[in-house]
Amino acid sequence: MSDRLEPGAAIGILGGGQLGRMLSVAASRLGLRCHIYDPGANPPAGHVAETVTTAGWDDEAALRAFAASVDVITYEFENIPTATLDLLESLRPVRPNRRALAISQDRLTEKDFLTGLGLTTAPYRDIPDAAALQAALEAIGAPAILKTRRLGYDGKGQARIMTADQAAAALDSLGGAEAIYEGFVRFTHEVSVIAARGLTGEVACYDPGENVHQDGILRSTTVPARLSNAQRTDAVILAGRILNALEYVGVMGVELFVTPGGLVVNEIAPRVHNSGHWTQAGCAVDQFEQHIRAVAGWPLGNGARHADVVMENLIGDEVARVPALSREADVQIHLYGKGAPRPGRKMGHANRVTRL
Ligand code: AMP
Repeated sequence: MSDRLEPGAAIGILGGGQLGRMLSVAASRLGLRCHIYDPGANPPAGHVAETVTTAGWDDEAALRAFAASVDVITYEFENIPTATLDLLESLRPVRPNRRALAISQDRLTEKDFLTGLGLTTAPYRDIPDAAALQAALEAIGAPAILKTRRLGYDGKGQARIMTADQAAAALDSLGGAEAIYEGFVRFTHEVSVIAARGLTGEVACYDPGENVHQDGILRSTTVPARLSNAQRTDAVILAGRILNALEYVGVMGVELFVTPGGLVVNEIAPRVHNSGHWTQAGCAVDQFEQHIRAVAGWPLGNGARHADVVMENLIGDEVARVPALSREADVQIHLYGKGAPRPGRKMGHANRVTRL
């Protein structure tokens, strides 16, 4: 039997935010149906999917019904509880696989995995208690960042330690959560590689994009990134190594720091990624279609870039820029169908084509 999903087959997506929404649009273009599972009512992806289940991650009956209604399951965010996955995996293929998810859910496991592959990360230490923090300060020094091992995103669950005397307060601010201590990386800029691996093991990477963050939230991605040819090649090769080591199926975001000494891996995200939205205006097959192709067992697009693009997130009140942006002929606008803008809420993004 072929693993390839035929038109009319259904993909289950865990999480119904903007990533699930754009995955769902891409799937429908390929003649595939989507079923969104999200604990929150009225998720953005629900507007464009065939079916939506609103139920908790611990609702066994709802999870069983969801799995029974689809051919394959994927996800748009990584913090899915282990017990939920145990159940779903026993019922349907889950792609990308469990190992990728487990690794990216825990910053310590993630760093151990990456360094185990011979890749460079920030110097780090596990911080189970205050004594370990003292030892890490001595070994790595300051400045540094204390990060919760789990459930951190968009800069949340992090505390900066500029000098040793700030360490105790930083640990307190994490409220007793398990943490890691990361030495500060002196980077010149940040880039990410959006990479994909298909069911038969082929790998396709997009050109690295250059990312600007503010308050831990991505503001913009620009392609091409400022990288030498050697760095560009390194970035793509290291992403490929990560995917192959995990026998990954789907799209992954690999965030990198660019330093005078080479590329340092910050983190991996086992899903389509905000810094890959530019592919919608810069590539024949964008990251969302690529992910659907991979999990559906289709061949991948090659990821080649045909334009220079600047992607800007529209965060909170910035959504008010849409009327002006819509008067610019080379700007592609994406809105997520969310309700009222709130500070820090990603409402949409704009892809400005700067060179064809
Ligand atoms: P993260 O949630 O780990 O991706 O961190 C969010 C942002 O904080 C990154 O995009 C960087 O700008 C900054 N950051 C995180 N870790 C480090 C580090 N070890 N050294 C320097 N900057 C960092």
